Amino acid sequence: IAVRAARRAGRGTARRFDPVLGSAAERRARLREDLPGACARGELAVAFQPVVSLVEQRIVGVEALLRWRHPELGEVPPAEFVPIAERAGVIGELQRWALDQAARAAVALPVLHAPLRLGVNISASHVAARTLVGDVAAVLQCTGLAPERLILEITEATLMAGTDDIAVDVEALRLMGVHVALDDFGTGHSSLTHLSALPIDVLKLDRDFVARVDRDPRSRALCESVIAIGRALGLDVVAEGVETPAQLGVLRGLGCGFAQGFLLSRPLRLSELTELLETGAGALWPGLVGSR
Ligand code: C2E
Ligand code: MG
Ligand code: MG
Ligand code: MG
Repeated sequence: IAVRAARRAGRGTARRFDPVLGSAAERRARLREDLPGACARGELAVAFQPVVSLVEQRIVGVEALLRWRHPELGEVPPAEFVPIAERAGVIGELQRWALDQAARAAVALPVLHAPLRLGVNISASHVAARTLVGDVAAVLQCTGLAPERLILEITEATLMAGTDDIAVDVEALRLMGVHVALDDFGTGHSSLTHLSALPIDVLKLDRDFVARVDRDPRSRALCESVIAIGRALGLDVVAEGVETPAQLGVLRGLGCGFAQGFLLSRPLRLSELTELLETGAGALWPGLVGSR
């Protein structure tokens, strides 16, 4: 069957046939089938990636990243299962769980200088379903997380889809005190003019630009203008996916305020994050040492 499915998938679609997992289509169907119960079976978890202030040289926040460990297929990346969850109509459920877990964790974290901010990714269909305001309000109420600590990460494409309904919801969230970040900035189509009209507090500079910032003059120019615009508009700019000291050095030179990436820390389990906060109090962020 798998062979036939792979053949049917046709030429040029780059589907590889795997004798164990079957075709890409079979894998998707399997994930689609198993996803609804994954939460109840305890297969989901939230990882936390530190966000570091390049000015204060310390951790000021974390981004919550959903993890799914499938009993047979192993770790399934969110880039693969989130779109499946959207199409299957279970993203709301998943998202509420992730928000709740992340918020519970955040309120229990040790506090060093100030309570860490918490970024949570929100998918387009969750925004479109219009349950987001209620879901966020419920989580804040249940967990006691201060709204100012929560940053909802929404992609350019979602915000730019910009129906009036979405604008109303985002405005309601900001009136509650919740912050909004424009995720993966640079990959979508928002013009810089449009940016000033968007209801956001944080700009997350996409990894694609950060990856070449130290080698490609065009990436560097793009990062430079985004950082400058961010400053002009009073937005925090976070560089995503910083992997090398050279990248970090250039970003700092350009005046970028915040960074996250494997150089600073990979996404951590809650126990690892807690330990880091308990033992690292007051210390300079290790990844920053020698990176000036
Ligand atoms: P994102 O929001 O842009 O998250 C950043 C991704 O980059 C994460 O991948 C993170 O592990 C990865 N990353 C961080 N630093 C580096 C680095 O230095 N190098 C490289 N190569 N990668 C780095 P992850 O966890 O696989 O998540 C992928 C995407 O899935 C996220 O992109 C986000 O759009 C989505 N996602 C994750 N969790 C959730 C969630 O709870 N809800 C929704 N709706 N989407 C989620
Ligand atoms: Mg994000
Ligand atoms: Mg991002
Ligand atoms: Mg990204």
